Amino acid sequence: MELNEALAKLAELEKKLYAYQAADSALYLDGTTVAPKDTAQGRGVALGVLAGERHRLFSAPETGTLLDLLWEKREELDQLRRREVEELRRSYAQLTRIPADEYMEYAMLTNEAGDVWHRAKEQDDFQLFRPLLEKLVAFNIKFAGYYDPSKAPYDALLNEYERGVDMEYLDKFFATLRERIVPLIHAVGEKEQPDGSFLERHCPLEAQRKFSDYLMEVLGLDRAHCTIGETEHPYTLEFNNKDVRITTHYDEGNLASSMYSVIHEGGHAKYELGICDEVQYTSLAGGVSMGVHESQSRFYENLIGRSLPFIQAIFPKMRELFPEQLGDVTAEQFYRAVNKAQPSLIRTEADELTYCLHVMVRYEIEKRLIGGTLKVKDVPETWNRLYKEYLGVDVPDDRRGCLQDSHWSGGAFGYFPSYALGSAYGAQMLKNMEGDMDVWGPVSRGDLSAVSEWLREKVHKFGGLLEPADVVKNACGVFDPTVFADYLERKYSALYGL
Ligand code: ZN
Repeated sequence: MELNEALAKLAELEKKLYAYQAADSALYLDGTTVAPKDTAQGRGVALGVLAGERHRLFSAPETGTLLDLLWEKREELDQLRRREVEELRRSYAQLTRIPADEYMEYAMLTNEAGDVWHRAKEQDDFQLFRPLLEKLVAFNIKFAGYYDPSKAPYDALLNEYERGVDMEYLDKFFATLRERIVPLIHAVGEKEQPDGSFLERHCPLEAQRKFSDYLMEVLGLDRAHCTIGETEHPYTLEFNNKDVRITTHYDEGNLASSMYSVIHEGGHAKYELGICDEVQYTSLAGGVSMGVHESQSRFYENLIGRSLPFIQAIFPKMRELFPEQLGDVTAEQFYRAVNKAQPSLIRTEADELTYCLHVMVRYEIEKRLIGGTLKVKDVPETWNRLYKEYLGVDVPDDRRGCLQDSHWSGGAFGYFPSYALGSAYGAQMLKNMEGDMDVWGPVSRGDLSAVSEWLREKVHKFGGLLEPADVVKNACGVFDPTVFADYLERKYSALYGL
């Protein structure tokens, strides 16, 4: 086969893979937003066929032959194609190493586990979920060997979410954070908490929807390319760099909940919309890793969205939209209320300061589960002990303890650390951004264009063209978690007068 013919076949393959993904996403979007309640079954049939077809297309021997041929001619390929082939070969090798029957069995297991986990959480019954979790752990240990037999199983799993990151790296990372954050939390605990009761005043849906529109405008999200929907759990879904959807969840008794969901998901959307055209419809489209993606969402949510200059900038509009709720509140009071730091039980509701400790608990447990030094039956007891040790809180039940997150039921072991890494990457990006330009002048006027442009140039535009570690290096320099710890110390010392 001539090189040109092979490249044409590669483009055809990539477009087909994109089409399957797009169809899958469209069904998911429909199912979580406007589809009638009892219609999941039919979509399930369609999704199953799509997944099977995609798997068959991608794992076909002809695909392997094509990728091998292109790899042999890699010297003749430009950087983008070479990288594209490299990525596809990696995925191909991984997929074809997993025996088809195990792949199918695992797909069925995660499907069932999701269901059982839901019930177990509702009924606060860990024993119900336990056998499923045991199987999921066993499968993941086995799959880790398929992913990369040269690595320890948990390292191989971590690599799936954040390539280049391993236990040695994370042990150091979390140790640094723990050493710095735990004393800070104790110091904050000694101080009087700000009054944030106004956040719980009733806020009608319609006003909150208008507020979301305003926030999207401030974030610079072009409504011709990004819409906002409403779902139980907020998410971002990308079709390509011209079509991204975000969702939020409105709570009429909590104004800040949707506000920060919109800004968080908006950050994910900014990333996807900022990726260059050249990589679209290829394996390099989309954000490069979970950690880098979270660095962007958290950048907008916390570093910008929970800063005083930003809140001051948008507060006049907030008072206009919520006159009864915020008429007697100042921007400064609002700033203090949305930055209240207090150890708590639920990760997704945790504040910026304590959040990483929630992640650390999950990291310790996953590491030991996959490493074989912790048995599934001992997860609740270990969870509760670590929460006491790291956060000083007593876990009253498993519903608010080890059953709170869906990740493990979906087979995602090694995912959690990305959240903490993202926060730390973001803080270092901010530091470098501040060295390059005036960040806070424009932000205090509600103008985020310069911030977004910096992130686009340093992070967004590459998509998967660079390795995650190179994107991090590009925007952060040499990664140093003490920068994040310094940031937290500065922010919370000022907030609580430490
Ligand atoms: Zn996120």
